[in-house]
Amino acid sequence: MKIAKFGGSSLATSEQIEKVFQIVTSDAERKIIVVSAPGKRFPDDIKVTDLLIACGKHALQGKSYLKEFNLIIERYSEIAIGLGVSSIIMNEISLNIELALSGNKEHPAKFMDAVMACGEDNCARLVASYFQLKDIEAYYINPKEAGLYVSNEPGQAQVLSKSYENLFHLRERKGILIFPGFFGYSEDGEIVTFSRSGSDITGSVVANGVKAKLYENFTDVDAVYSVNPTIVKNPKEIKELTYREMRELSYAGFNVFHDEALIPAFQAGIPVNIKNTNNPLTPGTRIVKERTLSNGPLIGIASDNGFCSIYISKYLMNREIGFGRKVLQILEDFQISYEHQPSGIDDISIIIRQNQFPEEIESQIIKRIHHELNPDHVVVERDLALIMLVGEGMRHNVGTTARASKALAIANINIEMINQGSSEVSMMFGVKTCDEKKAVQVIYEEFFAKVSSN
Ligand code: ASP
Repeated sequence: MKIAKFGGSSLATSEQIEKVFQIVTSDAERKIIVVSAPGKRFPDDIKVTDLLIACGKHALQGKSYLKEFNLIIERYSEIAIGLGVSSIIMNEISLNIELALSGNKEHPAKFMDAVMACGEDNCARLVASYFQLKDIEAYYINPKEAGLYVSNEPGQAQVLSKSYENLFHLRERKGILIFPGFFGYSEDGEIVTFSRSGSDITGSVVANGVKAKLYENFTDVDAVYSVNPTIVKNPKEIKELTYREMRELSYAGFNVFHDEALIPAFQAGIPVNIKNTNNPLTPGTRIVKERTLSNGPLIGIASDNGFCSIYISKYLMNREIGFGRKVLQILEDFQISYEHQPSGIDDISIIIRQNQFPEEIESQIIKRIHHELNPDHVVVERDLALIMLVGEGMRHNVGTTARASKALAIANINIEMINQGSSEVSMMFGVKTCDEKKAVQVIYEEFFAKVSSN
């Protein structure tokens, strides 16, 4: 049995859903289909999920949400008409969204989750009715009925382990099952969503639950590329990479696949195949447990910006027990999560996402650091980009750091920080955001374009 998950662009129009239908029915093993909400039809379009968010926010503020509501209904109607499904389904969809918008607003985050989940839930209903119209035995499956239980953390649910046993029973069901992505239910029966792009997580969880032989993740690119194609033209396609490599790349800015979506598939040893709905015969990229290391030290380079660092130095920091914990405690008190924490004998840097660190919070935190830790210096540096070099091959290749830093030096790019060694498969360089693109280009040039030196 295979699980096939289709992303928003694969469900954006009736023509795209027709492709989904062809793909699914061309392979009898594709039994469970996980769907996102209709995504963008063209670059400036708005995803249904984003329209639902706008609608939900207006409803919370007691404002009219009619404009966005109508746009959502138009999106579904356009698809329903294009597919030729009965208008009854459109009435159901519109009632379903109205019901969510008139729901309990006492807990805004829970209310928003219930509204956002309408995107995938109604898409699954629509797709199931199209399959039925084409005389295929297909059913919409509600995640509660299937037993997909998650933690009660609105917008960032985590799957509860009992879900896997519940989902196993989907194997006994007849026909093709159309499962909405992105949300599950808390133990007290409320809708809770995963983080954005979380339908990838649903697909992986369902694949683990039913012990599928393959998790196919259909999107709109032929493969995962070794670098962001908007930064480097025609980059190398990755044919195969490991779960660890993919997780590092997704975390650091590759948005082809959600970084939390790998673990469920990995734990069950299920390979993941990223494929293109618009070009389904190309093999795509396979994510596997182990791969042959024939491509040199790196498999990919990712980058992301919007980071800042808090650099703290204090003579004899190394002898002060609990120094690091106290710094992190201060951040925890402000509900700030940190990303990296390189340290030296007398110094420590904490890298955090800038959007968690507005200037008013900065001054309060710096005051507490001075007051509670008595450091020699504290410096906050903003507008940093992190460049991640990822590859299992790094462990067996000498001189990877030297090659990368030499490439940056030749391009006159100052390295603000390096974090090497804490992960076996990645190495991180911090540079100023204005140098991000250039840095990625020269590192790509060094490791991928100079094939002979790999
Ligand atoms: N529709 C949701 C989002 O836009 C989830 C997903 O597409 O995976 O984030």
